[in-house]
Amino acid sequence: MLPYCRIAFSMDWKTLDAEVLVEAGAKSALSQRDPLREDLFPDKDEAKALLATCAEAIDALQDRLYAEQKRSLLVILQGIDTSGKDGTVRGVFNACGPLGVNVTAFGQPNELELKHDYLWRVHQATPRRGLIAIFNRSHYEDVLVVKVKGLAPAAAIERRYAQINAFEHHLTENGVTIVKFMLHISKDEQRKRLQKRLDDPAKHWKFNPGDLEDRALWDDFAAAYETVLDRCSTEHAPWRVIPADKKWRRNAIIASVVRGVLEEMDPQYPAMSWKPEDFAIE
Ligand code: AMP
Ligand code: MG
Repeated sequence: MLPYCRIAFSMDWKTLDAEVLVEAGAKSALSQRDPLREDLFPDKDEAKALLATCAEAIDALQDRLYAEQKRSLLVILQGIDTSGKDGTVRGVFNACGPLGVNVTAFGQPNELELKHDYLWRVHQATPRRGLIAIFNRSHYEDVLVVKVKGLAPAAAIERRYAQINAFEHHLTENGVTIVKFMLHISKDEQRKRLQKRLDDPAKHWKFNPGDLEDRALWDDFAAAYETVLDRCSTEHAPWRVIPADKKWRRNAIIASVVRGVLEEMDPQYPAMSWKPEDFAIE
């Protein structure tokens, strides 16, 4: 980490990506990752300008993906309460046409979902060809909150890491590109954001007393996240740890990575069997 090294916002997205990527098989060292990363995008206005450019580019690439109808993109957002999952959806995908993007929020499983295996509800929400799907929380809750609160037997949870890797591999071998973002905030930043939810009447609806119970388990959640990052960052579906204490920096980084991944996918408009000059419109 080079906290005083100013990296220009115009840097290649791969250089930026390397700063946040958890290499497959490597230790994530989550506790040593800075949730602020002031060296990445030191300037708020530059970050906001880049976000706007990337959001437009993502929309244009989504149009191609939709027209191509061959592949899809799954964006997984994980992070503790107030880490900014909703704000990321709003900030990064706001330029996209609503037809091409599906957002699914995964809360506590309902009665029917509990009668199935934990991946059942998740598989149904994966994107069909041409779409971008965004998961606000995901199957990772089944090795995070479920582990921290002991909602399933430890031996069953232990088997899930390999099951998740296999499930994601299955998806990627069947046309789904997966991008996983862990929104990394500090405990102090969470305190400020929770306090805002109490202070601002327009935010009261976001406050859930249960969030304080989870906050009291901060260290357990951090350890569970670290295990996820260590064991489920794979070649086919790597994790990225996003410094998320500043919303504008978080959005700029995520938008850059999503844009870069879509550009690498390089979706193409389909070739037509006719030529425009074959037709005359009266
Ligand atoms: P929120 O995203 O803040 O609206 O809250 C959703 C809640 O559902 C969070 O407290 C999650 O921990 C919880 N949740 C999500 N998935 C699961 C799961 N598989 N099992 C138990 N709780 C879950
Ligand atoms: Mg919540």
